[in-house]
Amino acid sequence: MSFKSEYLARVYDSVCKRNANEPEFLQAVKEVLESLEPVVAKRPDLEKNGILERLVEPERGIQFRVSWVDDNGNVQVNRGYRYQFNSAIGPYKGGIRLHPSVNASVIKFLGFEQIFKNSLTGLPIGGGKGGSDFDPKGKSDNEIMRFCQSFMTELAKHIGADTDVPAGDIGTGAREIGYMYGQYKRIRNEFTGVLTGKGISYGGSLARTEATGFGVCYFTAEMLKAAGKSFEGKNVVVSGSGNVAIYAAVKTTALGGKVIAMSDSSGYVYDPNGINIDVMKQIKEVERARISEYAKRVPGSTFTEGCKNIWTVKCDIALPCATQNEIDEESAKTLVANGCFAVAEGANMPSTPEAVAVFQSNGVLFAPAKAANAGGVATSALEMSQNSMRYSWTFEEVDQKLHGIMVNIYKNAAAAAKEYGMEGNLVAGANIAGFLKVADAMKWQGVAY
Ligand code: NDP
Repeated sequence: MSFKSEYLARVYDSVCKRNANEPEFLQAVKEVLESLEPVVAKRPDLEKNGILERLVEPERGIQFRVSWVDDNGNVQVNRGYRYQFNSAIGPYKGGIRLHPSVNASVIKFLGFEQIFKNSLTGLPIGGGKGGSDFDPKGKSDNEIMRFCQSFMTELAKHIGADTDVPAGDIGTGAREIGYMYGQYKRIRNEFTGVLTGKGISYGGSLARTEATGFGVCYFTAEMLKAAGKSFEGKNVVVSGSGNVAIYAAVKTTALGGKVIAMSDSSGYVYDPNGINIDVMKQIKEVERARISEYAKRVPGSTFTEGCKNIWTVKCDIALPCATQNEIDEESAKTLVANGCFAVAEGANMPSTPEAVAVFQSNGVLFAPAKAANAGGVATSALEMSQNSMRYSWTFEEVDQKLHGIMVNIYKNAAAAAKEYGMEGNLVAGANIAGFLKVADAMKWQGVAY
C-alpha cells in the first residue's frame, strides 16, 4: 500500500474489500486518494467528519432490467445502471454510457470521477453516471428507440430536473437522448430540463455538441501558454472519432495545430496533410461508417488496423479522446521517445496510472480528464440554466462562457497543486480543487442526509 496517511490507507483498504471485483472503480479511487495526502495532513476535520468514507460510497445505486423487442420479434434483455454518487453541491449529473463493456465497476468509476469534475466547473452539479451493456452498433433506428424507451421507463422513477439530470456519453448521442426525453415526457407529463444534450428544437443548448472537444483544447491552450507554448504549427494526434474527438480536432485546427491521425475501435488513419474534418464528420456523424473509409476517400492518407497503434505516430501533442485505459505504459514511452511534450485527456481515464507516471517523470505537460474534459458537463449545466429560465443563449454566448470556465479550471487546478506543494502536477491539483468544495459542503450539511 502506497499511502503515508493511516486514514487514507484505512479508507482505501475498506473500498478494496467492499468492491473487490471492480478494478476500474478501485483505480479511480486510488488516484484521487493518493492526491489527497497533503490535504488530509492539513485537515484533521476530514477524518472527524468521515468525509472520505462517505465520498467513496455512492449515495444510491440502481440496477435494472431493460427488456425490448428487436426487429425480428425476439425479446432482448440488457442491464441498466444509474449510480447517484454525490449530491452535496447540486443534483446528480453525468452521462449515460451504452457499450457492451459497461458494468457496475465502469459506471462507478465514471460516477466517482464525475463528483470532482463537476465541482471543478464551479457550477452547482453533483456527481452521477449511468448506462447499459446494450451495444448500439448495428442496431436499426427502431431498435435504438425501443431500447431507449424501455431504459427510460425505469430510469424515469429515479431522476428529475432538480434530482438527477443524465446526459450523453459513449453510445448516447442526440438521437438516443431524444428517444429517452420523449419517453420521460410521456410518462411524467412534464417538459423540464431532465436530460441534457437535447436537440436544439426542444431545449438543447447551442455549443453543447462541440463543448467537450472545444473545452479540451481551451484547457490545453491555457496549459501550453503557461509553459510558453501553443498549438500553432504543432502535429497533433487525436484518438477516437466520436463526439469528443471530432470537436477536439475541429478546435485544434482552428487554433493552428495540425491533426495528423484519428482512430476508431478498428484502427487509425494517418493523414500527413492534416485530417479533413468535413470528410471525417460525413463518415462518422452522418454515415456512422468505419474510419477506414477515410483512407479510401482522401488521397495521401493511410489506414492501419489496431487502434492502440495510433500512439506510435510521431506527434507534439496527444489528445486521447476514445475510452478508458487506451494509453498504457508502453504507448506512453513511445509517445515520449517520439518527442510528444503535451497530453490532454478528452476521454475519461484514458491513461493507465503507469502511463501517467511516465508522462510526469519525463516532464510532459499532462492535463487529466477531470479537468480537461469538464467542458461537456459544464455546458450541460448551462443547458440546465437555460431550461430553468426557459430561454436560450446564442452559440457565441455559450462558447464564451465555456472558454471562461475552462480557463478557470486550469487556474484553480494549477493553484491548488502549488498550494499543496506539487506545482505543475495538474492531476493532484484537479483532484484537490474539486474535492475541497464537495468536502466542505458535505461537512456543513451534516452526516445523516
Ligand atoms: P462516442 O461514442 O461519440 O465516440 C467514442 C469513440 O471512441 C468512437 O470513435 C469509438 O470507436 C471509440 N472507441 C470506443 N471504445 C473504444 C475502444 N475500446 N478502443 C478504441 N476506440 C474506442 O463517445 P464520446 O466521444 O462521447 O466519448 C469519448 C470519451 O470521452 C469517453 O471516455 C467519454 O466518457 C468521454 N467524455 C465524453 C463527454 C461528452 O460530452 N460526450 C464528456 C466528457 C467525457 P467506434 O466507433 O469504433 O466504437
